[in-house]
Amino acid sequence: MKNDQKNINTIINHLKNSGFVFQSSEIYGGLANTWDYGPLGILLINNIKKEWWKNFIIKEKNNIGIDSKILLNPNVWKASGHLSNFSDLLIENKINNKRYRADHIYEEITNKLAAELTQEELEKWIIENVKEYDNSKTDWANIKKFNLMFKTNQGVIEDKKNEIYLRPETAQGIFINFNNVQRSMRLKLPFGIGQIGKSFRNEITPGNFIFRTREFEQMELEFFVYPHQDEEFYNYYVAKSKNFLLSLGLKEESIRLRVHDKEELAHYSKGTTDIEFLFSFGWGELMGIANRTDFDLTSHNKLANEKLRYFDQEKQEWIIPYVIEPSIGVDRLLLAIIVDSYQEEQINDESRIVMQLKYELCPYKVCVLPLVKKHSESAKEIFDMLIDHDIMATYDEVGSIGKRYRRQDSIGTYWCITYDYDSINDHSVTIRHRDTMKQDRIKIEDIISYIQNNK
Ligand code: ATP
Repeated sequence: MKNDQKNINTIINHLKNSGFVFQSSEIYGGLANTWDYGPLGILLINNIKKEWWKNFIIKEKNNIGIDSKILLNPNVWKASGHLSNFSDLLIENKINNKRYRADHIYEEITNKLAAELTQEELEKWIIENVKEYDNSKTDWANIKKFNLMFKTNQGVIEDKKNEIYLRPETAQGIFINFNNVQRSMRLKLPFGIGQIGKSFRNEITPGNFIFRTREFEQMELEFFVYPHQDEEFYNYYVAKSKNFLLSLGLKEESIRLRVHDKEELAHYSKGTTDIEFLFSFGWGELMGIANRTDFDLTSHNKLANEKLRYFDQEKQEWIIPYVIEPSIGVDRLLLAIIVDSYQEEQINDESRIVMQLKYELCPYKVCVLPLVKKHSESAKEIFDMLIDHDIMATYDEVGSIGKRYRRQDSIGTYWCITYDYDSINDHSVTIRHRDTMKQDRIKIEDIISYIQNNK
């Protein structure tokens, strides 16, 4: 079944019932478009982040990681352009009192890019052409620019002077630490600085489950290069990003590259490629790779007390490096992984839900099951052995063996190990593979090597 034919509500229910994602603040009626990760969700999230860190930091010998703060000096956002530019075009329908993104309405109806129009042209087009929208007649107010940054106050006094913002991207925390990181680590161009962390955007139209939320997490790499190397590393990171997504198990047919044309490019970008994913609601941006040029470092250099720059030993001169940025949201990636791996299968007369997650991503790699309760002590010894070998395992002795297998399939557990009546005599167990449901009989002492060799 193609992803856009999968029913997202069925998937959301499954995620809730099995402990992946819960509606946040549910006992108070929820908080709009806010979701909490449950015990299995956080295991999957951590595995996703681990894979990103491995691929973009550890395996790239020129890259290192940092962890900067959510709250930064407000001048950061002045320099980056977020205070003046980080806004969406909001339009209100006075009949149903709902607010929409003007560009989304235009793009949905015309299938063309709103970036090709000025704000005035867009407003005129909507007022003249969209007489009915979202099951309501329309009476449009003028388009307003709405800044997406969340504002709060630092300290005890609430006044303008203490206004501070929750970061809308993690990238700026990297730029402002350019000198610190480059000097302390004695880095030579080209090199990358990455981080994973929370970002906040007061989105006008959040929704589609965890696709667009106001609080989310990003994994961003800022890769600094000599200006003449920008094309080379832009292409490198577009290809690397696509391969990374495929390595996590996303299907070739579920992703596509979309190159921004000139009109659509962000003010800081010389070139941007989106990697889009076929979500249940259609194609949507999953990851973006942008050539941010020297925009960010140069902007900070106009406002900050210290110059962010690099001394080119060969030419004996200071230069401002260019930046290539692959950026992806953890939550969006989790959604894509779940949508692509969620399958409902019919086996003879029975149906099963199976999450065909890559071994590295599985919340539990193994579930240990005693066939009957009297085997539980021996089964628990196997569980302890797995945990001692850093293999994430769970244990289940409740219900029929068939039902227990189904439960584990539905949460993506890669192996089920069953301790049965013969195990006492032959010191062996049955190990069952999630996807093929094939079973092998193996010696207890061989369990660890079997798992390590067959994942
Ligand atoms: P969109 O066009 O969907 O609003 P964007 O182009 O503004 O996204 P970027 O600023 O490039 O997004 O952010 C980088 C990545 O962060 C995105 O590719 C996406 O995976 C993630 N992301 C951005 N906004 C959100 C959000 N509101 N909720 C969840 N993830 C987000």
